[in-house]
Amino acid sequence: MLMPENEVDETDCCGNGCTNCILDNQPKPSQQALVAGKRNVILSYARFKMLSNEVHNGDDQLRLLHFVYVASDDEENDSILDIPPGHHVMLRAELAGHAAPLLRPYSPYWTDFVAKEFKILVKLQPGGPMSDYLAALEPLQVLNFRGPIGNYVHDSSSPKSIYIIAQGVAIAPTLPLVAQVLDNEDDMNCIRHLMCVKDLQHVYFRDRLLEFAQYWNYHSCLYLAHQKCGCGAANCDELCVHLKKELRYNERARRLRLDAMQLAAQKISRNQNGSIVIIAGNSTFQRSIREQAIIAFKLSDENIYLL
Ligand SMILES: Cc1cc2nc3c(=O)[nH]c(=O)nc-3n(C[C@H](O)[C@H](O)[C@H](O)COP(=O)(O)OP(=O)(O)OC[C@H]3O[C@@H](n4cnc5c(N)ncnc54)[C@H](O)[C@@H]3O)c2cc1C
Repeated sequence: MLMPENEVDETDCCGNGCTNCILDNQPKPSQQALVAGKRNVILSYARFKMLSNEVHNGDDQLRLLHFVYVASDDEENDSILDIPPGHHVMLRAELAGHAAPLLRPYSPYWTDFVAKEFKILVKLQPGGPMSDYLAALEPLQVLNFRGPIGNYVHDSSSPKSIYIIAQGVAIAPTLPLVAQVLDNEDDMNCIRHLMCVKDLQHVYFRDRLLEFAQYWNYHSCLYLAHQKCGCGAANCDELCVHLKKELRYNERARRLRLDAMQLAAQKISRNQNGSIVIIAGNSTFQRSIREQAIIAFKLSDENIYLL
């Protein structure tokens, strides 16, 4: 049962029309927290201290922010931090010049359950109020976050084909979704991880993707809509010698946009118990890929998850 301080009302909604709005997906004790018999510190707004604010991929507009929970002096050590893969958290900040607190959702790409730490990748939006605030954050400053918000629950008991499709920085929240399958050697789900980005410069967490590629049940492909290639062809792939020089060992890439035909070509041939598709990106991307996935895999809506 939710405690009064954990309940949500209209003032908890950021108003950006999130697919998984906090009003429909109230933060609630997760299965892991219940099993551990511990309190999840983030169920109502909790204080997190920033440990670092680092530029990512050499791009000043991309920041990796690392936070740790700040316990109150009299607090017992009976808590954990649980943000399940595919869930996001809400940041609430009181900014000068804003009458009401500003709310923005962010999707952690790494969480430490016991140390109560998490990390997010933020793409700063020019002129955006939360972006300006985050860009200037100094280590040790304290922020308020609440969550977890979302509805995706991974089922490791019946092996499926899982297509995880991400746009740009939204690759970040898909990393824990992949890791939870690969970290469990009894999990027989097969993953196709498809990244849609401008070009190779905009592929984030490339080293992590190469680590994933060592597992039998993981394959990825990069869709590089604006990658330049010396061969002159419009849609070359990793077999092109020019593109090959830019790729790392085990990387697969196509110089085109992902569509239903490309998706169908990614179909996993192993005999699995059905398929699901998880889509991370802005709402236009989610809508468009959802339609392409329905055509390519003949799926119904309940097998498609929008983060
Ligand atoms: C469920 C969810 C999870 C999210 N997770 C992350 C995350 O992990 N990392 C992250 O960086 N952002 C994430 N976002 C977006 C984030 O919540 C903010 O919208 C973003 O940081 C901009 O906030 P702002 O106040 O600076 O600018 P805003 O005032 O919100 O926007 C400033 C300008 O940028 C445009 N803009 C805002 N967001 C985008 C976008 N994604 N793409 C293109 N233009 C945009 C707006 O239309 C506006 O013109 C997430 C959004 C949702 C719905």
